[in-house]
Amino acid sequence: MNAIDAVGVALPRLRISADEVADVWGRYSGAGIESKTVPTVDEDALTLAVAAAESALSRSSLDPDDVSTVCLATTTPPLDAEEIAPRLVRALGLPTSTSIRTFTQSTLAGAQALDSGFDAEGPALVVAADLPRGDPASADHPFGAGAAAFLLAESGSVERLGSTSHVDELAGISYRERGSDELTGLDITSYERRAIRESVTSAVEGLGADPDAADRLDVDITDVDGAAVFQPDARMPSRATGDLSIPRETLARGTVVDRIGDAGAAGVPLGLAAALDAAEDDDRTLAVFFGSGGGATAMLFEGRVDSGFDAELDGGISVTYPEYLRERGYIGTVDVAGGGAHVSLPAWQRSLDQRYRLAAGRCPECEALTFPPEGACRNCHRRIEFERVELPRTGTVRAATSIGHGGAPPEFAEQQRRDGAYDVAIVELEHKGESVTIPVQLTDANAGTVELDDEVRAVVRRLYEQEGVPRYGVKFAPVDDRR
Ligand SMILES: [Zn+2]
Repeated sequence: MNAIDAVGVALPRLRISADEVADVWGRYSGAGIESKTVPTVDEDALTLAVAAAESALSRSSLDPDDVSTVCLATTTPPLDAEEIAPRLVRALGLPTSTSIRTFTQSTLAGAQALDSGFDAEGPALVVAADLPRGDPASADHPFGAGAAAFLLAESGSVERLGSTSHVDELAGISYRERGSDELTGLDITSYERRAIRESVTSAVEGLGADPDAADRLDVDITDVDGAAVFQPDARMPSRATGDLSIPRETLARGTVVDRIGDAGAAGVPLGLAAALDAAEDDDRTLAVFFGSGGGATAMLFEGRVDSGFDAELDGGISVTYPEYLRERGYIGTVDVAGGGAHVSLPAWQRSLDQRYRLAAGRCPECEALTFPPEGACRNCHRRIEFERVELPRTGTVRAATSIGHGGAPPEFAEQQRRDGAYDVAIVELEHKGESVTIPVQLTDANAGTVELDDEVRAVVRRLYEQEGVPRYGVKFAPVDDRR
């Protein structure tokens, strides 16, 4: 039986306060949300998922090659026609034989992914990553972003004592219209609030009656130390559990929406990550998910695990509302004159191992590294068969320059319009005494702030869209300034 072995979270570094949004609109429809995370133009559900998963893997002694199942939950997949989980597997360098499951239907996706991971044979990686968006005048107000990743294995320290679902058809409760990337139904009526409360009560009470869990649950199911409950806003957890009398401080341990905004299908998983981090070794933590159509799922956990949630939340950078609108792409469109540096899809596909994993070639004759691993050895110029090596994901800036307005290649014009000037750098990466320098784009740093000899680390980000397909690759972010 799988248990939680490690947890990692990823939050965008930009933040906007509720006051900033309220100043513009004269009101703010996100009860109890004080601040929220703002995904930048190069962040989406895939890049957040990669970052959270990397964090979880780094906190575990489990060999990534042993991960046999990846379950991904999001209501905002960046690709309409294509699964994003294979890209996640590739970006993490997991075995290509990894079994993949994707859940996208509603905010219950996080629960479905966790259920699937716990049921899997062998170690599983479960990632919930979401960044809902809606009409900036209303629905958008509470929307934040983030990702939580759970590495599950038999050796895990946090046991899941039970999981039950309650499904009832509740007319009119829809979180997301099919085929639309705008969310609806968040203007929650009293009818909806009652329906949510009844579903949640039923799911949690069902947990007490779960035959698998019953003999281990010697206490009242609501007598828990922490709880992460469906949180489209900060009032919902206490409203949804109104029939269960869970104390306010217990709910507070698993409520993160007040600081990060509504993270959709990642909301409860992020709350669970925060609650498990704050728990004592034998504490019990409840997680309660709710989604479209009246479904609720309750899970009970025992134990604690570090997730680094507080550290990840610390040290964000505030943006103004106009900056927010630009980052989110709510204002303006861009027309790029002329053609960009066109890389055909097949050529791009062949280079993914370099772009995600920094795969370089080592020369068997002279040991020198060549990146990208094409053509002859960069050092001895011999035409040899390169040995594949993955470069380290941290390196040192050897040169940097800012690309100002108008200076970006056409494929990066949209990014520049939304995010402003950016830096490019030559970064030196060392591997076993050999080093190689590569040109990279920097991110998570204001243009001009990165200096020579700064340490930077690789992050997988969205680069641009070509032929309707978003393309991803490695950029580098400062090691020190961040978080
Ligand atoms: Zn050589």
